[in-house]
Amino acid sequence: MPIRVKVDRDTCIGCGVAPTLCPEVFYLEDGKNRVRPEFSIETDDSISLGEVREDLRECVENAASSCPVNAIILE
Ligand code: SF4
Repeated sequence: MPIRVKVDRDTCIGCGVAPTLCPEVFYLEDGKNRVRPEFSIETDDSISLGEVREDLRECVENAASSCPVNAIILE
Protein backbone atom coordinates (compact mmCIF):
# COMPACT_ATOMS: atom_id res chain seq x y z
CA MET A 1 0.00 0.00 0.00
CA PRO A 2 1.48 3.35 -0.95
CA ILE A 3 1.50 6.03 1.71
CA ARG A 4 -0.45 9.16 0.92
CA VAL A 5 1.27 12.27 2.20
CA LYS A 6 0.08 15.85 2.10
CA VAL A 7 2.24 18.90 2.68
CA ASP A 8 0.37 22.02 3.70
CA ARG A 9 2.64 24.58 2.05
CA ASP A 10 0.68 27.49 3.51
CA THR A 11 1.54 26.24 7.00
CA CYS A 12 5.13 25.20 6.23
CA ILE A 13 7.64 27.72 7.54
CA GLY A 14 10.46 26.33 5.39
CA CYS A 15 12.59 25.23 8.34
CA GLY A 16 14.26 22.56 6.20
CA VAL A 17 13.78 19.69 8.64
CA ALA A 18 11.65 17.58 6.29
CA PRO A 19 14.09 17.65 3.35
CA THR A 20 16.99 17.03 5.74
CA LEU A 21 15.39 14.02 7.43
CA CYS A 22 13.82 12.58 4.28
CA PRO A 23 15.52 13.93 1.13
CA GLU A 24 14.25 10.95 -0.89
CA VAL A 25 10.72 12.38 -0.66
CA PHE A 26 10.89 16.09 0.17
CA TYR A 27 12.66 19.15 -1.15
CA LEU A 28 12.33 22.89 -0.66
CA GLU A 29 10.92 24.86 -3.54
CA ASP A 30 10.36 28.59 -3.25
CA GLY A 31 11.28 28.21 0.41
CA LYS A 32 8.53 25.68 1.15
CA ASN A 33 8.47 21.91 1.37
CA ARG A 34 7.24 19.89 -1.60
CA VAL A 35 6.92 16.18 -2.43
CA ARG A 36 9.40 15.20 -5.11
CA PRO A 37 7.96 14.99 -8.66
CA GLU A 38 8.39 11.21 -8.86
CA PHE A 39 5.91 10.78 -5.98
CA SER A 40 3.69 13.78 -6.65
CA ILE A 41 0.06 13.27 -7.66
CA GLU A 42 -1.22 16.81 -7.20
CA THR A 43 0.47 20.07 -6.45
CA ASP A 44 0.02 23.81 -6.38
CA ASP A 45 1.35 26.70 -4.31
CA SER A 46 -0.67 25.71 -1.21
CA ILE A 47 -0.67 21.92 -1.24
CA SER A 48 1.66 19.15 -2.31
CA LEU A 49 0.09 15.71 -2.37
CA GLY A 50 2.02 12.54 -3.04
CA GLU A 51 1.94 8.76 -2.96
CA VAL A 52 5.10 7.27 -1.56
CA ARG A 53 6.43 3.74 -1.60
CA GLU A 54 5.98 1.70 1.56
CA ASP A 55 9.75 1.29 2.04
CA LEU A 56 9.96 5.06 2.60
CA ARG A 57 7.32 5.05 5.32
CA GLU A 58 9.76 5.47 8.21
CA CYS A 59 11.44 8.37 6.45
CA VAL A 60 8.12 10.14 5.83
CA GLU A 61 6.81 9.45 9.35
CA ASN A 62 10.01 10.75 10.84
CA ALA A 63 9.74 14.00 8.89
CA ALA A 64 6.04 14.36 9.74
CA SER A 65 6.56 13.88 13.47
CA SER A 66 9.51 16.30 13.45
CA CYS A 67 7.74 19.13 11.64
CA PRO A 68 7.43 22.02 14.12
CA VAL A 69 4.14 23.24 12.61
CA ASN A 70 2.58 19.85 11.73
CA ALA A 71 2.44 20.70 8.05
CA ILE A 72 3.00 17.10 6.90
CA ILE A 73 -0.12 14.96 7.10
CA LEU A 74 -0.19 11.22 6.47
CA GLU A 75 -3.51 9.96 5.18
S1 SF4 B 1 9.51 20.27 8.69
FE1 SF4 B 1 7.53 21.28 8.36
S2 SF4 B 1 7.98 23.48 8.41
FE2 SF4 B 1 9.92 22.40 8.14
S3 SF4 B 1 10.23 22.33 5.89
FE3 SF4 B 1 9.20 20.43 6.48
S4 SF4 B 1 6.99 20.87 6.22
FE4 SF4 B 1 8.07 22.83 6.27
